[in-house]
Amino acid sequence: MSENPSISWYDDFLGVAYRYFDIRMNVVLMFNESKPSRDLWYETMHWWNDHTIKIRFVETGDDYWFVMGADSRRPDTNKYFYKILEKSANYERFKKGHQGSAYMRFGIYSKKTVDEVKNDALCDCGHRKDDHDVDLHSCLYEICDCKNFDTFQLNILKKKKVVTNIKFLSENDVKDDALAWNCLNRNKYSKND
Ligand SMILES: [Zn+2]
Ligand SMILES: [Zn+2]
Repeated sequence: MSENPSISWYDDFLGVAYRYFDIRMNVVLMFNESKPSRDLWYETMHWWNDHTIKIRFVETGDDYWFVMGADSRRPDTNKYFYKILEKSANYERFKKGHQGSAYMRFGIYSKKTVDEVKNDALCDCGHRKDDHDVDLHSCLYEICDCKNFDTFQLNILKKKKVVTNIKFLSENDVKDDALAWNCLNRNKYSKND
């Protein structure tokens, strides 16, 4: 398979979150700041034809490559997206539960301090704020080794795209998939020279 040299690859985002609401699973690309991500949406995703959007998950041991691309009505400013991420429980949940389609959205990720959130806010350890020591902020569950309450808020933006072409691949399968091949060839194999 020959590589398409005109693809512009973009990986300047924080990661991918998987959230279940609105009937479908949501694949959320996370950003720090609202304005640049909204600009990016209007520059790229806005012009994507939904039925051409493809997402590939290429699993490489404990990590996976998130790869996404589509045909655009504005090919000159189009971008494809990729990110190397660690497998997580939410990722595995998405893999099992997506049923062939998902909403793709952007989200703004922000860390919150313990004073900024309500008592029912969840810590990264999975337990509520009021399950943590009031002064030390360590988790009170004996089984939990969380030393400090830590949480983040993900503000998911309304704009969305429907993705119905989703595949999970191993690295051996990459040569048979144009999108995954283009991504790994450019961003992995050609860098090892
Ligand atoms: Zn905790
Ligand atoms: Zn805990």
